[in-house]
Amino acid sequence: MRTIALLTILLLVGCGGSVDESDNNHGYGYSYDFRGDSGLALRYSPSLLAEKPFPWMTLLEKEYLNVQECVGISAPPPMVIVVNDGDLKPYGGLYYPDPDLIVVEHSSLQLAFKHEVVHYLLHYGTGNLDPAHNSELFVRCSFAHP
Ligand SMILES: [Zn+2]
Repeated sequence: MRTIALLTILLLVGCGGSVDESDNNHGYGYSYDFRGDSGLALRYSPSLLAEKPFPWMTLLEKEYLNVQECVGISAPPPMVIVVNDGDLKPYGGLYYPDPDLIVVEHSSLQLAFKHEVVHYLLHYGTGNLDPAHNSELFVRCSFAHP
């Protein structure tokens, strides 16, 4: 039962997108609101209030490092865009390769972000972002208490 619940969460959280053919960062553009110490570029407007980016930035950078260590692949952080809830329906987040971009909905930000970072690191390190979620790393590195 727990496995079914986890698989359901994985399917709802997000998935890997396709390679950009628009030459405009998968249609999202390249502007960002803030760049953290790790180099992670974050666009949060208009989904998050302007006074909120610093706590989110700290959290996302910390989670990025945690997932990187868990997966065992190091890579420069990709750009991250936070969008409004429902914008990615039925997913909570998406990872797009070439150029690398993670898009996450506001309410599923932390969970979806970690899941998409696993896709990104697998793509960076192996060339396969594992769209079918065959890797155990999705469960091991995307959930705080598996
Ligand atoms: Zn996925």
